[in-house]
Amino acid sequence: MKIHYLGTAAAEGWPAVFCQCDACKAAREMGGKNIRTRSSVLIDDELLLDLPPDTYLHALREGLELGRVQQLLITHSHQDHFYPQELAMRKEPYAHLRSEQELEVWGNQDVVAQLSELDLRTVSLKAVKPGDTFKAGRFTVTALPADHMLDRTETALLYIIDDGRTKIFYAHDSGWYPEETWQFLEGANLQLVNFDCTNGPLPYRRGHMGIPAILEAKARLEEIGALASDAKCVITHFSHNGGLLHHQLEEHVAGTGLLVAYDGMILEL
Ligand SMILES: [Zn+2]
Ligand SMILES: [Zn+2]
Ligand SMILES: [Zn+2]
Repeated sequence: MKIHYLGTAAAEGWPAVFCQCDACKAAREMGGKNIRTRSSVLIDDELLLDLPPDTYLHALREGLELGRVQQLLITHSHQDHFYPQELAMRKEPYAHLRSEQELEVWGNQDVVAQLSELDLRTVSLKAVKPGDTFKAGRFTVTALPADHMLDRTETALLYIIDDGRTKIFYAHDSGWYPEETWQFLEGANLQLVNFDCTNGPLPYRRGHMGIPAILEAKARLEEIGALASDAKCVITHFSHNGGLLHHQLEEHVAGTGLLVAYDGMILEL
């Protein structure tokens, strides 16, 4: 499985859109892995996770042909994960597609409701609930609940994606996983987990996590047999409010087994 990290920032990007803080100033000056766009991952060039407002930039920067994407999984309707208007460009006369195949889009009921209001034509909408397992192309996917929207207006979804050989857990924006999610993960033998590291070194756990909560979550995953012995534990979705630049994050997690994602990172599992 090829896992291509297109964006690795939280809602505001890093450097953040309008921000003048020291962390954003340093990121602008240093560039490279410190330039983080809104979070999204592409699997095997065909399954896309989330549709942030930076998706078009991702396509340009990474040389992607988004017309090839056949499945799109949306985690929740926050603006950094879901820019629905972009899908209105996937039809004539804005897109001349080689295949008649519809783009299949999965999301919670809020995501599907927003998409239903648009004139999409070449997109097929599929509402999913926490606990559902379904086929997305050649992938078997299970949606699990997050503890992200603390006002409970919407349930953000975490996804287990399995191609029959490799199984990964796409888990941000997550907060500390609800019990239902922990139970499902028992014995899961995952080859990769994406952790919600919005708050960098800070001790957050509800809504979003920081490194102390992630290390606790990683230990519990190991304890319940959720991680394969060589599992990759990737931290991503960083906010400038965590303060640590890429090299500082790497220093901070040295020896913990956590891998710091950056825009453009590709893992082959
Ligand atoms: Zn987010
Ligand atoms: Zn800032
Ligand atoms: Zn969110």
